[in-house]
Order: sequence, then C-alpha cells, then structure tokens
Amino acid sequence: MRILVSNDDGVYSPGIPVLAEAARHYGEVRIVAPDVERSSAGHAITHSRPLSYHRTFIQGFTAYRVNGTPADCVSLGAHQWGKVDLVLSGLNIGLNLGNSIWHSGTVAAARQALLLGLRGIALSAPASAEPDFNPYMPWIRRVLDTLLAEPDLCLVNVNLPRAPRGIMWTRASVRRYDGKIVPTQDPQGRELFWFAVRPIEGAEEGTDRWALERGWVSLTPLRLDLTDERQLDAMRRRNPLDEPIARGVAPPPSPEAERSVREDESSEALTKEIDEPVATRPPDNRAS
Ligand code: MN
Repeated sequence: MRILVSNDDGVYSPGIPVLAEAARHYGEVRIVAPDVERSSAGHAITHSRPLSYHRTFIQGFTAYRVNGTPADCVSLGAHQWGKVDLVLSGLNIGLNLGNSIWHSGTVAAARQALLLGLRGIALSAPASAEPDFNPYMPWIRRVLDTLLAEPDLCLVNVNLPRAPRGIMWTRASVRRYDGKIVPTQDPQGRELFWFAVRPIEGAEEGTDRWALERGWVSLTPLRLDLTDERQLDAMRRRNPLDEPIARGVAPPPSPEAERSVREDESSEALTKEIDEPVATRPPDNRAS
C-alpha cells in the first residue's frame, strides 16, 4: 500500500514524523506537505500560479515540500507518485472539531484524497501536546488498525485528546460556532482585526467535541455530498419547479447546455492543454 502523508502545519511540523512512523507499518510512505504553515486554508487550491516541489529530509522518510495548499499537496503528490492508496493528514497541532472541519486544511487534505478516488484520514491533537507527539503512537496505530479494516470508510476525521481513555465513533458537533472577530490596533492606532476562536464547552452527546471533553479519541466518518436530503424532498413535494419538463427532454439533454457547463468549469483551450499530456500517461497509473 502506498501512503501519502500530508498536513497543513507545514512539512517540518513535529506532527508529520509521528504519523509517518505509524504509517510505515501499513505500507510505503511518502511525505508531501506545504512548505509553510497553511492552517485554516480550508480546501483552497492554487490555480492562478504554477506549483513546484523540492526534496527535503524528514527523519529518513522520502519527503517533498510544496509551495501550495494542503489540497494541492495531495493532488500533486498523488499525480507524481502514480498510484496512492491512502492519504493521512496530520498529526495536526490543534483539534479539528465540529465547525472547524470547514476551515481545516488538515481535513481538506484528507477530503482531497476522496475527490481523487483515494481514502483519506485526518488526525488532530491538542496544541498543548506539541512538540512531543510520540505518546500518541499506540493510539494512532489503534485508529489506523480500526479504520483500515473497514474498506468502505473513505473519509474520517480523527481527534485525539491529551490523555486518551479509549476510542469512540462520533458525529460532527456543528450546532455552535467558535469563530469570532477580535478588534485590535497597530502601533499607529489604526484598526486591525484578528479572526480568533472562542472556547466552546458542553457539546451534544455523541459528538466529536463531547467525546474529546471526556477524554475519548473521536472518529467521525465524513462524506462529500452536502445535499440536504430532507429539504430537497420537502421542496420537490411542496414547490415542484420545472422537473416535469426536464424529465420530458430526451437524453442527451442539451448539447449547448452541456458545453456551457464544461466551458464554465474550465476554458476549452486550457482543457486541451491539460488533457493532452494526461492522455500519454499509462492508463493504470492512478488508483481508483
Ligand atoms: Mn494546522
């Protein structure tokens, strides 16, 4: 098994070698991570300038630093390595609970794996545990033993408390938001603003935050499809729009509409340029 290890804290973060060391028991490990910290970069990708990477040394592992986001690192790493089976992201310095899943570059790297048809696991620990993440090694091993034995689990957000008592399955705690704006000023007295986090306690039972507050390692399975099924069903019943007409149009729907969507997502010239070299690559060099 080929395992790509990435993160959002930067390639030289102390969370990388402990995760790579744990991953070594399951397959061949390669580290591809941002050259600088990209925490809270979310799922950003770099499309307005080219990317490059440089070889670096991380405790005996093959490692590359990339001038891009966590999601860029996973895409570029998977492309250059040819066939990757699993992406591990972390071990992040700081928990990624509940709503922080939206902002987290750690989770985004794992999610990018799923976008590419690979499995992704994000792992985070409290910032107060830095820099010695080695005590987490047996817990990371138990987490990976558990998750890798379940081939249908394609994207999982893992959070480890300071001194774990055990492991449990959780859902994401998204009822309350911890982001807040904190005003301050520069030495000249001009207004500035920090985007800060306010502590939240007392989460709903069975959630990731609830588990961490009680000292349990939290495993939250995630998915890509954000469709609100309940609202979709309700709207289709209560307020049907032009679906009956759309159903009446024989497939293929409308070549003009299809082309317009394609062109909007990527200009025709750009698509050609990118697709040509791809077509010359061996067809079997990408995991499905
Ligand atoms: Mn981070």
